[in-house]
Amino acid sequence: MSRRSLQHPAPDSAVLRARLERAREAAGGTGLVIAPGSDLRYLLGQAGGSLERLTTLVIPADGPPALVVPKLEAPGYAEVPLAELGVEMITWVDSENPYAAVADRLGDLERVAVSDFTPALHVLALRDALPRARQVLAGPIIRELRMRKDKAEIDALRLAGAAIDRVHARVGEWLRPGRTEAEVGADIAAAIVEEGHATADFVIVGSGPNAASPHHDVSDRVIESGDLVVVDIGGPVPAGYFSDSTRTYAVGEPRDADVAATYAVLQEAQRAAVEAVRQGVTAESIDAAAREVIVAAGFGDLFIHRTGHGIGLDVHEDPYIVGGNELILQPGMTFSVEPGIYQPGRWGARIEDIVAVTEDGVESFNQRPHELTIV
Ligand code: ZN
Ligand code: ZN
Ligand code: ZN
Repeated sequence: MSRRSLQHPAPDSAVLRARLERAREAAGGTGLVIAPGSDLRYLLGQAGGSLERLTTLVIPADGPPALVVPKLEAPGYAEVPLAELGVEMITWVDSENPYAAVADRLGDLERVAVSDFTPALHVLALRDALPRARQVLAGPIIRELRMRKDKAEIDALRLAGAAIDRVHARVGEWLRPGRTEAEVGADIAAAIVEEGHATADFVIVGSGPNAASPHHDVSDRVIESGDLVVVDIGGPVPAGYFSDSTRTYAVGEPRDADVAATYAVLQEAQRAAVEAVRQGVTAESIDAAAREVIVAAGFGDLFIHRTGHGIGLDVHEDPYIVGGNELILQPGMTFSVEPGIYQPGRWGARIEDIVAVTEDGVESFNQRPHELTIV
């Protein structure tokens, strides 16, 4: 993955330095090996990128962290204030073994935590370089930091929410019978960028029977009058934080007679879940709040996914709002609340807002009306 993120604006060095120190503390004697991606962006202000050549941030239990990077890619990290962060840069050339450099920096540890999405080719080579160290996932360690957003992160997510709301406010300009999902999706993608995102990360336009497929993309299906259309869209703002919001539209009067009553159940489920959000309750209790409403109405089998996912520098991250997750919600946690009801082969609907747990309740970053919007 060589996807390069926009490099501005990065948090200031004091924030990054504190994160690096907290990561080391959270690791509790385990060495951290952080791959390019959102964890690296969280800790260094830049996501970086790499393919077969190893780039990684090494945080040993003791001693200074090091960014191990191929010499030819080192200029890409010029904007990271490594000296201020106390991070040493170790460059390597193709004739050298970078895994030995990582092992050298970590020392003789019993446990090494590697980023969840580290390519296997690096994980296995690291195992050879550190034969005594047990490898574990870094995700559970880093998520303890990333799950609770600070004020600047909340501000960025709020900005992202407002930007995607402006896109939803314009969907009526593009959604018309006779156009394909892909045509509508292209207009939406352009608007996502126009309204302040760095890129359009995903655009789902699921019309008619396609609305019953939660992770539908877009297709060449021609939108017909009477269709319901699930529009689930988002992307990162320049600071790297994501928007993600779903609204369901009706192209004229819905053709299926059961839409109105079922949609009212969905709306009630989404509201019940948001109202259940406060510090001190479990993540699974929010899922249950939505699910109970849908099950009670007899549609339990048609709500085929969890109620939500955390969001931040990744569009899907902890905490997951799912049965079995007993994690206690705390202020600063941000996640989606997105129940859906899907009638296979006919229609589907979903309502999705991003919310934050606050000191005294919940804040929603999305403000668009929840009613089925007839275009
Ligand atoms: Zn999804
Ligand atoms: Zn979502
Ligand atoms: Zn979504």
